[in-house]
Parts: sequence; C-alpha cells; structure tokens
Amino acid sequence: MAKKCLGVREDTGDPCKRPAGSRSDFCFAHRPQEGNEKILNLQHDPYHCPDDGQKLWYVPRLKLHRCGMCDGVLLNEKEIDPLVLESVLGLSKVAEEGLAVECPTCSTDSDLSDGKFALSNFAMEWGFAVQKSKYHSVYYCGVSNVGHCKVCGSTWFAGPGERDALGKNVGKERGFWRVQPGGSKIWGPLDMQQRLREERLRLVARKTEKRERMREKLCQHVDSNGERCNRRKTQKEGSEYCFKHRPK
Ligand SMILES: [Zn+2]
Ligand SMILES: [Zn+2]
Ligand SMILES: [Zn+2]
Ligand SMILES: [Zn+2]
Repeated sequence: MAKKCLGVREDTGDPCKRPAGSRSDFCFAHRPQEGNEKILNLQHDPYHCPDDGQKLWYVPRLKLHRCGMCDGVLLNEKEIDPLVLESVLGLSKVAEEGLAVECPTCSTDSDLSDGKFALSNFAMEWGFAVQKSKYHSVYYCGVSNVGHCKVCGSTWFAGPGERDALGKNVGKERGFWRVQPGGSKIWGPLDMQQRLREERLRLVARKTEKRERMREKLCQHVDSNGERCNRRKTQKEGSEYCFKHRPK
C-alpha cells in the first residue's frame, strides 16, 4: 500500500490526502516541502491544542500552527508581530487561574508536565462584519482567551467557539485568527479593544431587552410541567393571558 504524503496544504495546513511518491515521503506537488523542519516536526514532535488535545497543523504560507478542530492559532516568539504581542500583553488578565492551560510548545519539548508551563491568559475582544450580500452584512463579536508563555514566548489564540456573544453561529468565519493574526479589522491595538468591548456590551444589552419585550407580550400561564405558554396575550387592556388561559 502506498504511503501517504507527509505534506500539507500551503494555505490551510490540512494534511495532504495523496499518496507519497515512490522515492519520497511527499507527493509530487508537496516535494518542495521536503526540507521544511516544521512540517517534519508534525510527524515526530507535533504540538497539541491546549484546549482540546488535537494535533496542531502547520500552515506554511502564514507561518503559524493552527488547530483543525477549534481554529485556535499558535504563534511562536519569532512568528508573532512584536506590536501584536505588545497589544496582547497590555490586555486585562483573565482571573480564573484554575482554567490556565499549558503552553503547547513547552509541553512538547519537555516530559515534565506539571503545570509549570501554564500560559498567562488575557481577554481579547474581537468583532468584525461580514458582507453577506450587496445590502446585508452581519456583525460577529466576542471575547476569547489569548495565552502567552513566559518561558518560550509562544502565544496561543484560543478558538472563538461555535457561537459569538450574541448567539450567532460563527460558522466558517471561525478561522479569523488565522486569516489576519493581528489584523486591525478584527481585533486591534488597545484603544480598539475598548471600542469593541463597548460595542459588544451594547449589542448584548439590546438583544436582552428585545427578548424581554417579546416575553412581555406573551401569556403568563405556566403549565404543570413548568413550561410557559407561548401564545400572545389577548388584546384586552391589562390582560396577562392568551384567549385560552384568560380567567373566566
Ligand atoms: Zn502531498
Ligand atoms: Zn483546538
Ligand atoms: Zn512555552
Ligand atoms: Zn396562554
């Protein structure tokens, strides 16, 4: 049986599915990756996602590692833009120390895995609009953990999760750390962090308010299973119930 090519897609890091050539560990298209140490390391000493344990992929074109499961991104000391790092280190630290994860780089290079390489976590605001059609765009926003390792200088951008702060499905936009690690459109320098935070809180409050207003229009009846009736109240002034549950 033919060996599988050890190469990866240049733009996404997805492992190649083609068989390797007869005198190589790579297929014809990935032959140029043969000497790439990062790609060879994927076989011998892969890094693992600190959040879900998956092997991280290396993305040659972007010079970063990413998790194919949660879309988290790992940048080492040399790969990260110094200005981006400065911004990260200026963010507010996440308080819950119990939730700290280990540095993917250090925990690979060492057998001593006793929490010595815990990342310091920072809360990073992100927000961006995606044009869905000519007249319609959708704004996604949230706050995610960014971890920094003081030992080796690696930085881990945790995956944003399935849904944003407003409950919208982030779906295929989930890879934004990788599209623009440090891009000012998505999460920027510190002054932008404050604006993104205010916008997020404003939108979340507006959504809660809208939901409250909807609830106020609904019948107050609660059945024996604790389920609330989802019919509208009757039009009558001061009415708290729907036509079915109104007091006779
Ligand atoms: Zn290949
Ligand atoms: Zn992951
Ligand atoms: Zn480290
Ligand atoms: Zn009712």
